[in-house]
Amino acid sequence: MKPITAFHIGFLEVKWADIADIALVSILIFSVYKLVKGTVALRVLIGLLILYLVFLIVQATQMEIFTLILDKFMSVGIIAALIIFQQEIRKFLLILGKSADIKGIHLSHFFKRRHRHENHFDIHDLLEAIKVMSATHTGALIVLSREDELDSYCETGDLIDAIVSKRLIISIFSKNSPLHDGAVMIVGGRIKAARCILPVTDSRNVPPNMGLRHRAAIGMSEATDTLVLVVSEERGQASAVRNGKILTDLNLVELRQQIQRYLYPDEEE
Ligand code: ATP
Ligand code: MG
Repeated sequence: MKPITAFHIGFLEVKWADIADIALVSILIFSVYKLVKGTVALRVLIGLLILYLVFLIVQATQMEIFTLILDKFMSVGIIAALIIFQQEIRKFLLILGKSADIKGIHLSHFFKRRHRHENHFDIHDLLEAIKVMSATHTGALIVLSREDELDSYCETGDLIDAIVSKRLIISIFSKNSPLHDGAVMIVGGRIKAARCILPVTDSRNVPPNMGLRHRAAIGMSEATDTLVLVVSEERGQASAVRNGKILTDLNLVELRQQIQRYLYPDEEE
């Protein structure tokens, strides 16, 4: 198939495919920049770019031995990059998968294992528990997942599998409970595990007053499509974290909104 010409600039023929090409590359570069901005991956990326630049210069000036060494290094570069940027690539694919959910056409619905009713649990009980824990300055970390089983994260803690209830959540997080450390996982409307360890974010944009509990909540929401709720032990306030963005000082109405928006995105409130 012959590419269709869009226009000419002097002798230069510009095809529609060129325009699309430039647009896609710009989007790609911008997405990569957005992903690595504020993380250590940015420095690694700059390091790699500098190395590549040196390689080009060395090659152009025909320094044979140095070229050979760098060439060998570059040839394993793809595998090295896959390992180094594992988290960023994961995030990128996650975002790509999510953006395929154009309003109205939910592509992921075709692959969904879980139906809406399976996610159903008493949000009221969860909110009541958060209210009590806020008032008593009891630290809590709760991960809600509507689709992913999150087995690998659940297995870092103690498996439970119980109905979501106010009293159970409060007793898990009460300071004398052996289960209070770490996160509780609510998957498909059931408490699947407690005392779970979440990935801590390496973002440098997190406010310095936020400690490990909040950083773990942000990290988890970056790595997975989950909604993470935090009750601060120090300040007693509640936060909700989604896609790496934290909303702090939420009241119960706002919290309910966040949970409903996450669990039932198709329904208008
Ligand atoms: P708070 O406002 O409640 O004090 P914070 O953000 O200041 O929260 P820390 O005071 O450092 O955080 O909270 C420590 C608690 O956070 C730990 O006792 C543990 O329960 C939890 N926590 C820390 N890191 C993780 C992690 N990677 N995964 C799960 N839970 C974690
Ligand atoms: Mg603290």
